[in-house]
Amino acid sequence: MEVELLRMRKGPGAEWSKEEWERVETIQNGMTPLMHAAYKGKLDMCKLLLRHGADVNCHQHEHGYTALMFAALSGNKDITWAVLEAGAETDVVNSVGRTAAQMAAFVGQHDCVTIINNFFPRERLDYYTKPQGLDKDPKLPPKLAGPLHKIITTTNLHPVKIVMLVNENPLLAEEAALNKCYKVMDLICEKCMKQRDMNEVLAMKMHYISCVFQKCITFLKDGENKLDALIKSLLKGRVSDGFPVYQEKIIRESIRKFPYCEATLLQQLVRSIAPVEIGSDPTAFSVLTQAITGQVGFVDVEFCTTCGEKGASKRCSVCKMVIYCDQTCQKTHWFAHKKICKNLKDVYEKQQLEAGKGKSPEENDGKSDIDSNCPNEQPEAEMSISQEHSSPKDAVEGEKESPGSEAGLESGQDAPAGPQVSEE
Ligand SMILES: [Zn+2]
Ligand SMILES: [Zn+2]
Repeated sequence: MEVELLRMRKGPGAEWSKEEWERVETIQNGMTPLMHAAYKGKLDMCKLLLRHGADVNCHQHEHGYTALMFAALSGNKDITWAVLEAGAETDVVNSVGRTAAQMAAFVGQHDCVTIINNFFPRERLDYYTKPQGLDKDPKLPPKLAGPLHKIITTTNLHPVKIVMLVNENPLLAEEAALNKCYKVMDLICEKCMKQRDMNEVLAMKMHYISCVFQKCITFLKDGENKLDALIKSLLKGRVSDGFPVYQEKIIRESIRKFPYCEATLLQQLVRSIAPVEIGSDPTAFSVLTQAITGQVGFVDVEFCTTCGEKGASKRCSVCKMVIYCDQTCQKTHWFAHKKICKNLKDVYEKQQLEAGKGKSPEENDGKSDIDSNCPNEQPEAEMSISQEHSSPKDAVEGEKESPGSEAGLESGQDAPAGPQVSEE
């Protein structure tokens, strides 16, 4: 690659002349050097080229590919992020009408899909922190831009997580602030739908977060326990099986209230959710998450039962059927979980028994892990970290019996003792 040769000859820190830049920027076979570097996963080279003004949105490739598309296809998260930060347009399509995110999804680069779909540059939010037109005050007080941006760019759309993020920031957790925030979110949503390159995914995300903020406002008005009460309502399970009905209804209602009924994404979501009875799979949360972040198959990662955060690894030591980020999430959920923990334990034991019939104990488990072990079903057990993959809560509904053969991940295998449960 010409640019590499040139760099080798001149040394890493050397100044490049204008002619030299023009030469390396010459498009070869429809691919710019930036596209090459992105596709080959060369982050330093991409950064160097971008710093020297390489056109991040060059669109002259014979199939209409952009640097972002190459980055996404290569699956390199850092490069995907770097070209986005350099101003790569996410809505450009290739010669067969696919965006970078769609191409990445097609080849299974889901992390890149998530990055692209959730990219929202801070400057776009900062626009609202300055008075526009005849306004005397900005729509968004500058001090709220940081915390709001954090929520906007989250890839975990679990309503509990969003309320937690609001709750942890005193600037945000008050009625007046949230009022401003949700109105700004609605404006961004509108912009996403009305701009030339419509972005339904981002519009839906903004609208959804706005709805959660409005719920927060309702609870803040009610006083007393405020947002903690909202979190409790979101986690409370129905008597029969512990399914969080209120949470499901809130998410469904938010989707239904999306103001642009002609949107394809809305129609898709409604089609996926409407026929599902409340309490069955898929949940509105999983459908929404999949649509917005591109995350598919909740198979090889564990999600916190409380807040939906990815990579949760601490299991309830009694039933071993639910998993949490940490003790805080477990404590938050305990009031609801304690009602079904015993039942889940029976389900778990039955599953273990059945799994044991078909398998010898050795093939049951590939890697014993870092559990700071404590005797099974000892409620006083300390937090231990389990990396095991065994079917979480939804397995109760008999959904998740996936033939997870890869990398020692098997469903229904023996899980070591998890976190302690009893705290009353
Ligand atoms: Zn959590
Ligand atoms: Zn339990």
